[in-house]
Amino acid sequence: MIDYIIVGSGLAGISFAEEALLNNKTILVFTDDSQNSSKIAGGLYNPVILKRFSEVWQAREQLELMTIFYANLAAKVESKFDFKVPILRKFFSIEEQNNWFAASDKPALAPFLSTSLIFKTFEGIDSPFGYGEVLQTGYVDTALLVSEYCNYLLSRQLLRHETFDYNAVNMDDESVSYNGIQARHIVFAEGFGLHANPFFNDLPLDGTKGELFIIRAPHLKLDVIVNTSVFILPLGNDLFKVGATYNWKDKTCLPTSEGKEELMDRIKEIISCDFEIIEHYAGVRPTVRDRRPLVGTHEGYKRVHILNGLGTRGVMLGPAMAKALFDNIENGTLLDKEIDIKRFTNKRKGKS
Ligand SMILES: Cc1cc2nc3c(=O)[nH]c(=O)nc-3n(C[C@H](O)[C@H](O)[C@H](O)COP(=O)(O)OP(=O)(O)OC[C@H]3O[C@@H](n4cnc5c(N)ncnc54)[C@H](O)[C@@H]3O)c2cc1C
Repeated sequence: MIDYIIVGSGLAGISFAEEALLNNKTILVFTDDSQNSSKIAGGLYNPVILKRFSEVWQAREQLELMTIFYANLAAKVESKFDFKVPILRKFFSIEEQNNWFAASDKPALAPFLSTSLIFKTFEGIDSPFGYGEVLQTGYVDTALLVSEYCNYLLSRQLLRHETFDYNAVNMDDESVSYNGIQARHIVFAEGFGLHANPFFNDLPLDGTKGELFIIRAPHLKLDVIVNTSVFILPLGNDLFKVGATYNWKDKTCLPTSEGKEELMDRIKEIISCDFEIIEHYAGVRPTVRDRRPLVGTHEGYKRVHILNGLGTRGVMLGPAMAKALFDNIENGTLLDKEIDIKRFTNKRKGKS
């Protein structure tokens, strides 16, 4: 008998797998290539929602946890995933500068918004109104993280590349069994693939498609992340990741000509030099209507759990949500009501 079967090896599945291993639990992860959000994500972490000038929900706690989590994980597989890089918000007017100063006065945002405007010139970008710097930011190379961590699990025979067959799950009070494997618990972390999961597909996971590019721009000299309507993230060797779009209708992982056009227009608003598109990716973010994750235990099956709904912020949320679920299952620590799936299941049953 193992402790956990985990379905999915994106940021959610990996975070839970690692939390379980750190606590000396035995695991087996099932994964396929049906979803790719974590493999293509920008990977940015930023404690401020710049569009609305508000603090990201539980930003401080999440930043603290994720820093330790990704550092430990990198040490374990002898790699590096977390790159502390400033995010600069490009201003297009004096009014935008003033809004920045007003926001940096708010106590919740003060630790994260620098009050010194930046007027540095980056070759390839015209920015007469300068930039505002968000503090405690950076990006996680999520593609590398998924690939290296899956290799790590594979080498220990803790990962199987196969599509999980929900019909083959059997349960009793003590355990869950799946094709001859017995486990104390099963954790589903399939991202937008949740819709195929009969245990949880009544939860309101909407999904928001995003597209992004890798571009080559030899005349763009940038060593920070610039953010406006899209972000530009330097990867080295004249390559930059640029994204992302938001599409609430199309739920496929296929790049589109509309996405391409939108990204091209947005890039041209920021940079003034030539560039060529090297890669064009698309994926579906597992977003939830109330913008909170989906964490918890099935109302009818106490050994069946979910870790999903990381939405647009998988990098910051993954480690914190995995810890919350693990502590809940193993130690009975209550889940925050805002993330517990009971907020939907209780509503269905008419409970407050
Ligand atoms: C374009 C884009 C840009 C983004 N940028 C950022 C960013 O800058 N910062 C940030 O924090 N977040 C970003 N995100 C969001 C982030 O990618 C997600 O929050 C996160 O990746 C979700 O992780 P997940 O593990 O829940 O889902 P996924 O990464 O989709 O992983 C789910 C896994 O489960 C597997 N699976 C599904 N069904 C089955 C099955 N039946 N059997 C076996 N395996 C199965 C899938 O194949 C996949 O491996 C971005 C997303 C997109 C699309």
